[in-house]
Amino acid sequence: MSNLPPGMAEVPEEVKSNVILSTVDFVYNLARSYSLWPMTFGLACCAIEFIVTGTARYDMSRFGMEVARPSPRQADLMIVSGTVTKKMVVPIVRLYNQMAEPRYVISMGACATGGGPFKEGYNVVSGIDKFIPVDVYVPGCPPTPEALIHGFITLHNKIKKQSVRTVPWYRKDYVGQIPIPVLGPDIFSTDPAKMRQIRDINMQRLMASRAAGKVSIAELRHAGDDEVVVIRNTGLAQDMTGWQLHSGQGERRFHFPAGFVLMPDAEVRIHSGPEAEAATPNDLVWTTQRIWRHEGDTATLIDAGGAVVSTFSYGGN
Ligand code: SF4
Repeated sequence: MSNLPPGMAEVPEEVKSNVILSTVDFVYNLARSYSLWPMTFGLACCAIEFIVTGTARYDMSRFGMEVARPSPRQADLMIVSGTVTKKMVVPIVRLYNQMAEPRYVISMGACATGGGPFKEGYNVVSGIDKFIPVDVYVPGCPPTPEALIHGFITLHNKIKKQSVRTVPWYRKDYVGQIPIPVLGPDIFSTDPAKMRQIRDINMQRLMASRAAGKVSIAELRHAGDDEVVVIRNTGLAQDMTGWQLHSGQGERRFHFPAGFVLMPDAEVRIHSGPEAEAATPNDLVWTTQRIWRHEGDTATLIDAGGAVVSTFSYGGN
């Protein structure tokens, strides 16, 4: 008799070596992240570094990205490389709207991200993210090809955290078309409904990543008389004001300090015990008393609303 949960089935012995069990998300994300086609598109000096990234020395075709497309309809990655003038932002948004969903944007260099050396200039916008959603920012003036490649890898990692269940572009109510800015004395549209639409699209895309990743207790270990609970964030930045860590024994509680933010892919370590020590800003000391002593002691992470986010059982060292 099988002990498998309802809905699961045994894989027959004779086919076990030919079967890989995985998730739809894994296959879908693997295919998407390694077949990004960038648009052939550059604005200023940063574009030269983008061009170099395609040459033999850096060879971006290693990532399945060699097909830089002249048509936005065949591209799903826009690399905004260079100074964005008020005149140019209009065709940039138009090109973005013509790209295929799911589409991604890398803001390459100081100019595209915030205006760079031309910030406050009469003809330059201070950040392309005021007009289209940006997934990855690559700093520098100009960023090197290595920095752009790091941006590609960061984008791949972001895509791998998404889930077909939460990404907005398959929802019936999703409208990804960005309002085209009107070129005039001031580039910003004065229509509040259009400004709200840009904000909503940005928020939907941000929430897609947040829903797939989360904050959880990753480890509970002893280092001598220092007991360490490791909490890791695989989602977007999380403000942990009001969050608590509960011990299963005696219901003791650690309150996270107000304003403590756990950044993406970062971890915070909560120390207890006589040798509890905070070596970095991401180490917090709870108490010099022992909390996690016995195998089976549990740690529970509670968010500001009182919901249980993660539980962990100490397995003994
Ligand atoms: S960030 Fe620097 S290198 Fe890039 S477009 Fe602006 S001025 Fe040129």
